[in-house]
Amino acid sequence: MAKSPAIHCSFCGRNRDEVKILIAGQDGHICENCIEHAHEIIVKEFHQKKADGKAGTLKVQKPMAIKAFMDQYIIGQDEAKKILCVAVYNHFKRINLPTSKNEVEIEKSNVIMIGETGTGKTLLAKTIAKLLNVPFAIVDATVFTEAGYVGEDVESMLTRLLQNCDYDVEAAERGIVYIDEIDKIARKGDNASITRDVSGEGVQQGLLKMLEGTDVLVPPQGGRKHPEQKMIKVDTKNILFICGGAFDGIDKIIARRINTNAIGFSVNKEEQELQRKNLLRFVNAQDIKSFGLIPELLGRLPIITHLEPLDAATLRNILTEPKNALIKQYTQLFAIEKIKLTIDNEVYDFIVEKAMEYKLGARGLRSICESLFTQAMFEMPGTTATEFNVTIEYAKKMFNKSKLSTLKVA
Ligand code: ADP
Repeated sequence: MAKSPAIHCSFCGRNRDEVKILIAGQDGHICENCIEHAHEIIVKEFHQKKADGKAGTLKVQKPMAIKAFMDQYIIGQDEAKKILCVAVYNHFKRINLPTSKNEVEIEKSNVIMIGETGTGKTLLAKTIAKLLNVPFAIVDATVFTEAGYVGEDVESMLTRLLQNCDYDVEAAERGIVYIDEIDKIARKGDNASITRDVSGEGVQQGLLKMLEGTDVLVPPQGGRKHPEQKMIKVDTKNILFICGGAFDGIDKIIARRINTNAIGFSVNKEEQELQRKNLLRFVNAQDIKSFGLIPELLGRLPIITHLEPLDAATLRNILTEPKNALIKQYTQLFAIEKIKLTIDNEVYDFIVEKAMEYKLGARGLRSICESLFTQAMFEMPGTTATEFNVTIEYAKKMFNKSKLSTLKVA
C-alpha cells in the first residue's frame, strides 16, 4: 500500500506505524528519531560556537572602567577597589598574552583582602566576576581539612566552580574563586595543642599548589576524594583566587610592628575604632605571617588590600545608593503589587542607628528592613491599598515587635 502523504515524517519519510511519535507542524510531521537527531546537531553547533568564542582572547575592560562598574554596586572601599581592578586587569592580560619563550613571564596576581565581616569583601569579588562574566565560586576555608580527617578536600572548591558553569572545564579554568575566612586556617599558636593542626597549616599546605597553578583532579560531586570516583582534571594556572578574612586582632600585630601603642586602654571605643581603621591601612605580609599564615601561602597571594569598617554615613548610602540597594528592592517588591512605597527620612537614620547599635554591619541592614516591612508585605497584597508610607513611629513599633530588638547590645 502506498504511503499516505499526510501521515509520514516529512524529514525521514518513515510511515506513521514505523515510529512512536509523529508531531504535526504546519505543513508536515516530524518523528521522534528526527527530533533526536536535530537535537544532537543543535548541541554540537552550540558547543562549537562556545569553543570558538573561548579560543579568542577574553575582552577585559580597563581598570578605570572596571572600577566605574564596581562603584554602581559597592559604596566606598576605593582603595580595595583600585587594587582589585588592577589585579584583575593584569591577571587577564597575563592570560591573553601569547606564550613565547622570550616573553617575561607575568606571575599570577592572587589577592588577599582583610576587613571586618560585612564590609563587602564577598561583594567585591562577586561584582568583578559578574562584570567579567566568568564562572565564580565562593568557598569557606573552614570546611577544609587535611586529607584523612573529617571535612572536605581543598580540591572540592573547584567542584563548586565546575558546578557553577555546568562542568564546562575550559570556562572554569578562567574563573574566579573567592575563599572566605582564610584567617580561620591560620596556624595555631606554638603552644596551642599537641594534637595535629588538621584544619590549619595542613590546609594551607594543600592550597599552595592550587593557588600557584597546577593540574588538579577534582571530585565532580565535591566532598572527599575516593579511589573509585571518576575525577575531572582542572588546570588552575589561570584561575584567579581572591581570599578574604577578618583577621581579628591583626591591628595589634600591626601596632606592635609600627611601634605605636595605638590600641590602648585609655582611649574610648570610637577612638579605638578609628585607630583600628587607620592601622589596617598599614597591613603587610609580615603581619599576616605573624597572624599565622605560612610564608609559602603568602607568597602565592602577592596582592594585599584592606577594607574600611563601615561608618554610619556609608551604611546610609548602602541602603539607598547601589544599583540594587535594599530600599530599591523593597520599592520594587511593593511596586509589583501596585503599591507606592515611601519612607520618611528619619526611618533611614533609625535603620542605620540600629545596625550600628547592634553591630550588625551592612548585613544587618537587611534584617532590620525585614522587621519593618514583613508585616506590610504579608497584609497588603490583595487589598486595595496603593500607598505605603513608613513613618518613624511605625518603624519603631515594628522593630520593637521583632526578634531583633531582643538582641543584647554588645
Ligand atoms: P564580607 O564578605 O566582607 O563579610 P559581604 O560582601 O558579604 O561582606 O557583605 C554583606 C552584605 O553587605 C552585602 O551583600 C551587601 O549587601 C552589603 N555591603 C557590605 N559592604 C557594602 C558596600 N561597601 N557597598 C554596598 N553594599 C555593601
